[in-house]
Amino acid sequence: MLPALKGWVLSLTETIKQYRVMKTINDVLIIGSGLSGLSAAHFIQKFQPGLDILLLEKEKRPGGAIETFREQGFQGEWGPHGFLDNTPESRELLVDLGLDTHAERAPLENFLRYVCHQGKLEALPQNPKKLLSTPLLSFGEKIRILGDLWKKPLPPGQTVSQWAEYRFGKGVLPLVDAAVTGTFAGDLELLSIDAVMPGVRRLEAEFGSVLKGLKAKKKKAAGSGPLPSMMNFPEGMDYLISTLAQGKNILFNSTVTGIEKRNGTWVVLTTDTSWQAKTLIMALPVNQTLKLLSPLHTPPVSSIPVAKILNIVMGFGKSAKVPYGFGYLAPEKENRFCLGAMFTSHMFPNRSPQGSVLLEALIGGRRHPERLELTDDILIQQAYEDLRQLMDLPEPPLFSKVLRPKHGIPQLEMGHPELLEWRRDLEKECADIYICGFGWDGIGMNEMIKAAKKVAHALVAGGLSADTEKPQVKPVYF
Ligand SMILES: Cc1cc2nc3c(=O)[nH]c(=O)nc-3n(C[C@H](O)[C@H](O)[C@H](O)COP(=O)(O)OP(=O)(O)OC[C@H]3O[C@@H](n4cnc5c(N)ncnc54)[C@H](O)[C@@H]3O)c2cc1C
Repeated sequence: MLPALKGWVLSLTETIKQYRVMKTINDVLIIGSGLSGLSAAHFIQKFQPGLDILLLEKEKRPGGAIETFREQGFQGEWGPHGFLDNTPESRELLVDLGLDTHAERAPLENFLRYVCHQGKLEALPQNPKKLLSTPLLSFGEKIRILGDLWKKPLPPGQTVSQWAEYRFGKGVLPLVDAAVTGTFAGDLELLSIDAVMPGVRRLEAEFGSVLKGLKAKKKKAAGSGPLPSMMNFPEGMDYLISTLAQGKNILFNSTVTGIEKRNGTWVVLTTDTSWQAKTLIMALPVNQTLKLLSPLHTPPVSSIPVAKILNIVMGFGKSAKVPYGFGYLAPEKENRFCLGAMFTSHMFPNRSPQGSVLLEALIGGRRHPERLELTDDILIQQAYEDLRQLMDLPEPPLFSKVLRPKHGIPQLEMGHPELLEWRRDLEKECADIYICGFGWDGIGMNEMIKAAKKVAHALVAGGLSADTEKPQVKPVYF
């Protein structure tokens, strides 16, 4: 095409795009109707009823990564299997929705969690007394943990593994590995300690030692109650989503393809419509937000790594003897096929037909994406082989299904703190935009709800104030 003609066609396309019908002027436009978007809408409605809120969702259902699996009497999860009842924002949300008494709770105090150690399942110590007798660490490794008391705080820019080894010694690395496998399906040699555990880093800086900080914190919180519980719902995790979505104005099958600011108003383009709004909330996983906002403000990276996992839902008959507890995790050095497994029917009742046991085995993660390419038959066979070396499973599963979630887990690796700076700058520079969602301030459901409430608060108050809240220590209950 001649250059002049090409230029004319391009400008015509731009003109058409600009004059596409502007559907509505909403007060608040939320992109994404996963847990983050729905929670943000909930809290805005609560703080300022009557605002006109629209959620744009590219799929034909809400919930994003959250979806329950049901087949032949077995009930598993495509995404999250549980979240702890120790976060005030999540407790508030459940009370608002009338779900706090409906939720099923598996108290951590009553359930053992196991770590694979030298080819055997060993119970994870639940308290410091049990730590003394655990075979998971040698005597020398236990003593070395106390070395933290004398170690100077490390400067920023450490991986989880560098930091943990420096403070507590090499012996703790398999346990830390199990923790980041159970939460991020991640690699402790790549994750950033500043991004993953900002609260622990704060204790280290404030008290000169993590152990001293934890002790001071415990003293302050004396009498604060028992260990938290893991929660789900009898109908599965997507019950939270269907309850949250009730009464919300969600437009499904609406993929946002571009975002512009015209004359002080946000213009959001979907494949067939332009939407105008005074205020915009991005409630998407980090990479989707980066893609849409990079034309407005160049980010330090175009994307962050995402760890994908798959879940094999396995039902076993009466002969199966699965140790009592939540499940187990396997550190990389154990060289197992599965990252771990959840003992779902122990945690929550009625997840499998009477007399059977439901296990959900996790495979892949940041270190083994190649396993996601295996066929279902091979996956089931190898997972069964792996599991039966660890527990008494004399007969193969009577039910098995490989779930391949399309959502992965964003990895908070080195460089994540700079990405958070970029977000702060962008929110300051372009007024009336708020960013929350999967992988910004964490990856767990509690973190999503907390960040969504913060955004709702800021929006109603007329802007984000300087972040004065100190990062909190997150309990790692994997
Ligand atoms: C396999 C897996 C296991 C997990 N296990 C746990 C667990 O046990 N406990 C726990 O606490 N957390 C767990 N999580 C994390 C938890 O699922 C997330 O914290 C939470 O679901 C993230 O919600 P979100 O709304 O931020 O993102 P998402 O769930 O990703 O929702 C984003 C929504 O935006 C939509 N969208 C994306 N792009 C566009 C676009 N361009 N236009 C319009 N819409 C768009 C998507 O379709 C989606 O509906 C797990 C996650 C995964 C993937």
